[in-house]
Amino acid sequence: MRKKIILACTDCGSRNYSSESNKALNVERLEIKKFCKTCNAHTAHKETK
Ligand SMILES: [Zn+2]
Repeated sequence: MRKKIILACTDCGSRNYSSESNKALNVERLEIKKFCKTCNAHTAHKETK
């Protein structure tokens, strides 16, 4: 089964990334450090619906 996920910045709430779940992302309470254009910095991004 494929699940579409969106990664949102935990700082500003911007939804910067989206992808389909895979092994690496198949975790609850996913949190990944990604670059946020809005914050202009690397921030924690969380899975959102
Ligand atoms: Zn941000």
